[in-house]
Amino acid sequence: MHHERIARLLEKIRREDGRIGAFIEVYEKEALAKAQELDRKAKEGKPLGRLAGKAIAIKNIIAARGKRLTAGSKMLENYIAPYDAAVVERINAEDGIIIGSANMDEFACGSDNTHSAYFATRNPLDPEYVPGGSSGGSAAAVAAGFADIALGSDTGGSIRCPASFCGITGIKPTYGLVSRYGLSDMAMSLDQIGPLANSAKDAKLMLSAIAGRDARDQATGGTPENGKVALDFSGKPTIAVAKEFLEGCDERIAKEFHRLSDSLGAEGYQISEVSIPSLKHAIPIYYLTVFAEFSSAMQKFDGLRYGKTGRELENLTEDVGELRGSKLGLEVKRRILLGTFITTKEYHDAWYGKTLSARAVIKRDIEAVLGKYGVLLGPTMSTLPWKIGQKMENPLEMYLADILTVPANLAGIPAASVPFGKIGKFRPGMQVLGSRYGEGKVFALMEEIERLDRK
Ligand code: GLN
Repeated sequence: MHHERIARLLEKIRREDGRIGAFIEVYEKEALAKAQELDRKAKEGKPLGRLAGKAIAIKNIIAARGKRLTAGSKMLENYIAPYDAAVVERINAEDGIIIGSANMDEFACGSDNTHSAYFATRNPLDPEYVPGGSSGGSAAAVAAGFADIALGSDTGGSIRCPASFCGITGIKPTYGLVSRYGLSDMAMSLDQIGPLANSAKDAKLMLSAIAGRDARDQATGGTPENGKVALDFSGKPTIAVAKEFLEGCDERIAKEFHRLSDSLGAEGYQISEVSIPSLKHAIPIYYLTVFAEFSSAMQKFDGLRYGKTGRELENLTEDVGELRGSKLGLEVKRRILLGTFITTKEYHDAWYGKTLSARAVIKRDIEAVLGKYGVLLGPTMSTLPWKIGQKMENPLEMYLADILTVPANLAGIPAASVPFGKIGKFRPGMQVLGSRYGEGKVFALMEEIERLDRK
């Protein structure tokens, strides 16, 4: 029966993905073979893993052995991953069926998926609009009904933004909960892999499968097994709303947010308004951190080590320069240049050093609130999806779209987006942030928001 269902999904993708552009590559053969294997195992009465039969799309910045790992870039157009990422190993072990690699903004730089070097992904709720980014292919695959669950990566909102724009659920786990082994890094102190799904329940299921210690990622520590993190929580977490979350927010989104907070109040939740003034500096702190770490991560892509370029290099410096010039997109180049500039010896203290201190302040302020309250609640994005082609000219405008999502990455805390209400064709996402390893409370409130949304 798994085989039949997967065959149907693949057929749907063949028919409809031309219009959406969710996938870079569809793994037809492997997906059908895995489905068949599961059917066989089931028939023989063998136990199946907890992801048995789930069709899973994987952002193409996560390595799957023998498959192209493009990171949405021409630089890696024909690079084949030599090994599986830790999350891919775990999905395979739990009998998930990986059906393909999802499109994304080049090297995860972007908020709308129009920065893929291949093609833009469209929003399944309205193909004239962007799906959000940079995990836009992952979100679109779930929203279009091509996949049950998808994996994305989130450095400054790349799971939550597209989840919110496509009307689905997504969570960026605590930094260190999920192994980044096999994830091509964007900014290594911020990156985290996480699930996108149709419900909090499915997101939790996927997280329970991929979370846990991995010796190959030194930042991992907590596992559901060692009790450091519990994904379940019973009771009503106390809620704080930072007033900064609503400043400059689209009025229609703010209205839905207030409707949600009224409903939660009526259910007996205790909601307190707080202020975290340092949040207003989140964007420059985030982008300076990203520029610095990204420019360093990108040094290895010189056209020699990863992917075939098909040419002989004669003069190393010139040829590598020319290659990077022709294979990398404008936004990626901008970040490499700015990052190189702010980390040069002369400017290091003025820019990067200051950024690190400012990041510590924002982290401390957020932690102080989460020391008093169970969760923080606010909208995920301050805007609705924009039309494809808008915001392309001005990078600053694009950067500002991340204002509500970047604080969680700076603080290393879990943050989820869950749809609530309706605005035209779209469903605004509500963001739930918890303390480090506080996923249980985050999921508890997400499930409550889903329940209230159905009411
Ligand atoms: N939009 C943000 C950026 O471009 C976030 C990217 C991400 O989370 N990968 O930096």
